Amino acid sequence: MDVKQLETNLYESFTRVKSDVLHLTDELNKLANAVGKIQASQAKNSEKIEALAKRVSDASAYARAAASKKPAQVKTQRVVVEKVKQAKRAKPTYIASKNGKKFHKTNCIFTKNIKPKDIVKFKSKKAMLNKGYKPCQCVQ
Ligand SMILES: [Zn+2]
Repeated sequence: MDVKQLETNLYESFTRVKSDVLHLTDELNKLANAVGKIQASQAKNSEKIEALAKRVSDASAYARAAASKKPAQVKTQRVVVEKVKQAKRAKPTYIASKNGKKFHKTNCIFTKNIKPKDIVKFKSKKAMLNKGYKPCQCVQ
């Protein structure tokens, strides 16, 4: 796994979250205005007002939560560490049939034909090659 690239991607996604929060705050103001107008002109339409008010309060809670988060850089590092841990715990990613010659990614369509009792699983491509299996087209 390219941790540097992962970190860059995560940093970019947190930058987007930040801009989403700004956008959300804007939306929040618009919604608050909309609620005010609806309350004034359509008192009988109370169900819609309640739904809108709920959205406003949900958005408020989200904005508060987002605003109270640590700086993106710190958060990013923590997420990277967690991702690396997850990768180490990862489930087998390649499977083959005991009777077959090729191995596949677990999501390959050809794995559907393998009977459960014949399935062989491995975490690495190298392990499959050592067992004498050849890679399917799905393995790149
Ligand atoms: Zn395949």
